[in-house]
Amino acid sequence: MNNDKNYIDSLLRDIQSETRDIALMEVCGTHTMAIAKSGVRNLMPDNLKLLSGPGCPVCVTAQGDIDAVIDLAERPGIILVTFGDMMRVPGNNSSLQEARSRGADVRVAYSPLDALATARQNPQREVVFLGIGFETTAPAVAITTEQARKEGLENFSVFSLHKVVPPALEVIFSDPDIRVDGLICPGHVSIVIGLEPYLGLAEKYYQPCVITGFETRDILEGIVMLLQQIRKGEARAQIQYKRVVRPEGNLAARETLKRVFTTAGARWRGLGFIEDSGLEFNHDYEKWDARRKFSIPEYEDIPIKGCACGQVLTGRITPHDCPLFGKACTPINPVGPCMVSHEGACAAYYRYRIA
Ligand code: SF4
Repeated sequence: MNNDKNYIDSLLRDIQSETRDIALMEVCGTHTMAIAKSGVRNLMPDNLKLLSGPGCPVCVTAQGDIDAVIDLAERPGIILVTFGDMMRVPGNNSSLQEARSRGADVRVAYSPLDALATARQNPQREVVFLGIGFETTAPAVAITTEQARKEGLENFSVFSLHKVVPPALEVIFSDPDIRVDGLICPGHVSIVIGLEPYLGLAEKYYQPCVITGFETRDILEGIVMLLQQIRKGEARAQIQYKRVVRPEGNLAARETLKRVFTTAGARWRGLGFIEDSGLEFNHDYEKWDARRKFSIPEYEDIPIKGCACGQVLTGRITPHDCPLFGKACTPINPVGPCMVSHEGACAAYYRYRIA
C-alpha cells in the first residue's frame, strides 16, 4: 500500500475536484466507524455524500427477533450466550441486560466456542448461542456447531439470526427512493464471498462497486476508484483491498457455511423481509437449531417509538435527521440499536461529533 503523503494528497485533490452531486454508500459497520474516526467525511466536497447502509449486523436485526431473543433468555433453564453488543439493544419491553437483572442467565462471550465450553460445563442446562453477523462471523458459528455435533453435545444450540449481504444490496439498488451512485463494498465480508456477487450486482443495477479496506488510505483510494468509474460512465466490480481480499473469496469458509447452513428468507430492520438473505441450519444440524428446539414463534416487528434506525440504515436520512439524536437518544440512554452497537451509524456520529 502506498503510504506516501504526496499520494494521499493526490487522492484528496482528485476527490475534491469532483463537482457532480454523488452519493456513495458503505455497507460495513467497520467502514462506518473508520470513516467517522478518520475524519474522511469532513474532507469530502459538499456535493459528495458518504452514506451508511445496512452494514451493522446488530442494527439490522429485526425488532421482532430482538424481542424473541429476550423472551427466550427468560425461559427457565436457559443460559443465553451472546456477544456484548447485544446486551443493551432495546426490545419493545426490555433488553438482555434488563432481563439479566431480573434473573435471566445471560452471559457475554468473545467467541461461539465460549458457548460450547459453557454447554460442556452445564450438562443439565440448555445453552443457546445467539448467532448474529454476516458471512464474516457465520463460519465460526458453523464450525462450532459441527464440533457440538461431533461431541454429541445436545444441550447446545444456536439461535441463528445470521444474514448474507448481497440480497440486501439488491433491495437498496432496487429502491427508487434510495439514491446511491456507487458502493464502498465491505472488506471483511468480501474476504469470504470474494468479488463474484458484486460482478452481477454491478451489471444488473449499473452500480460501480469497489471492495475497500479500512485504513484512511484504503478508503480514499476506494472512493477515487468509484469516482473514476462514475466519470467514465462505467459500472464494474473492483477490489481495492487486494492485500487481503481474493477474487474467489475464502473457499474453505464458504464450504463450511454450505455444510451447516442453507439460505432462507429473513427480516431486516429498515429493509423488511428479504428472500434468501438469512442463514438457517440445514437438515443435518436441525438438532442444534434453537428456533426448532424451543419452538420460537415469529414475533411481530413493532417499531420502537420515535426511532428512525430503519431510515438511517438505508441511507434515507443521516443520524442528525432523527429528532431523538443526541437528546433522548445517546450512548448512555440508547433508544435504538444504531446508538448501541459500536458499529452503528448513530453511535459513530455521536462519538466522533460528526456535524
Ligand atoms: Fe434510533 Fe437513536 Fe439513531 Fe434516532 S438517534 S435513529 S432513536 S438509534
